[in-house]
Amino acid sequence: MHRGGGLLVVISGPAGSGKSTLIDALIRAHPDRVRRAVTATTRPPRPGEVDGRDYHFLAREKFAELLAGGYFIEYNRFSGNYYGTPRRALVDDLGRGGVVVLVIDVHGAEAVRGFFPEAPRIFVVPPTPGELRRRLEKRGTEDRDEMERRIAIAEGEMLRIREYNFIVVNRHLPAALRDLEAVIHVARRSLPLGREAEEWRGGRFSEWEDGGFV
Ligand code: 5GP
Repeated sequence: MHRGGGLLVVISGPAGSGKSTLIDALIRAHPDRVRRAVTATTRPPRPGEVDGRDYHFLAREKFAELLAGGYFIEYNRFSGNYYGTPRRALVDDLGRGGVVVLVIDVHGAEAVRGFFPEAPRIFVVPPTPGELRRRLEKRGTEDRDEMERRIAIAEGEMLRIREYNFIVVNRHLPAALRDLEAVIHVARRSLPLGREAEEWRGGRFSEWEDGGFV
């Protein structure tokens, strides 16, 4: 969806789908064209996560205060913590053009669909349920209870795969990255999603008409 030129791309995927690694790779490959919309959470940072880059890490009280003030376009409680998409920052991000990737859970994606119905929704899946569990274990950032909670949520999220326009199977990172790039490439050219397509529909086609093209 274009607001001020940027294409909003909504990406979901269960914990263990490898979506964060995939999106980091996408941004590294296209640093001047692709940005991530930074959302807010009350969950504590994992090792290596940076405030303002990975999330805006907020205390629960602060989150509640911002929520009451209409700061979030949507929010959800996920495994005991709150997550929300800042409205203003998202609109500003889109105003800067390029591709803005919003990584949110299935509830968030549904809510955002109400505001940006044309934004392509991409679901990233691990190749097998076993691989999902293996990745979570390997990451080792959650204790066993939290991991089991996340696996249970993941199973529920997988059931909502049909709400998405595109599926990217994340078996090997380079291939998944190519798939994701291809999806964005297509989205930019499809109606009514893509800017290039919109330019033609909105005016550039008249150059041909004026020039006698029939
Ligand atoms: P994690 O704790 O693994 O970083 O995130 C848990 C889940 O919350 C992931 O599915 C992530 O995509 C999602 N999430 C992150 N930010 C938001 C947000 O602003 N809103 C919603 N609804 N989900 C979010």
